[in-house]
Amino acid sequence: MTSESRYQVCERVYAVGGDDITGGGDCCIYLVDCNSELLLIDAGVGRNTGRMMDLIGSLGFNPVSISTLILTHAHIDHIGGAKEVRDRTGCVVIAHRMDLDPIENGGSVTGSDLYGVRYDPVKVDRVIEGRSETFRCGDLDLLCIHTPGHTPGSISILIEVEGEKVLFGQDIHGPFFPELGSDLSLWRSSMHRLLELEADILCEGHFGVYYGKEEVRRYIEGYLTYYS
Ligand SMILES: [Zn+2]
Ligand SMILES: [Zn+2]
Repeated sequence: MTSESRYQVCERVYAVGGDDITGGGDCCIYLVDCNSELLLIDAGVGRNTGRMMDLIGSLGFNPVSISTLILTHAHIDHIGGAKEVRDRTGCVVIAHRMDLDPIENGGSVTGSDLYGVRYDPVKVDRVIEGRSETFRCGDLDLLCIHTPGHTPGSISILIEVEGEKVLFGQDIHGPFFPELGSDLSLWRSSMHRLLELEADILCEGHFGVYYGKEEVRRYIEGYLTYYS
């Protein structure tokens, strides 16, 4: 078995993909142990899905138990591996309506050309329509919050484990490409919404994990200042 400590973020949460884990331009990919089921947050570029599945296995989980895959937004470094994950596990795919078209049909806004990969589109089973929706995975509630800005349909996810609020805020740092649908003023309100959550742990999309309410707040406020 692989040493868990390198990959474990906190109780029930593991980092199973990312630059220093699976490489290949992958975003940080997080696995949540929901007791009888597994939740995967984002799927990476898709070059190293097999490696990620092997890592999940070496952590003592059966990758086929991934029942839910949340795609936080339609960029290739987050959605490229989604089709393969769905094919291998039969999981339910969740995403927001505003990013549905590129996830299901591809196109330049996925950024696949920048990464030099061909995007294999995936069907979304549960579409988030509004400002927030809660889904159940195993014994955990997943609060999906619409946080537009980086892309129109970006979402953040909040779970509570052992009394701690864990926030998955993929790419809340940006970058912002207006031609890809980024909107800084929407992003600012989204960040204020995330600050109100007072999360204890922030799992970011490319810059790892931040521990403690103060650190999380400082991280988000730092970007608000930077882009003010
Ligand atoms: Zn990203
Ligand atoms: Zn992105």
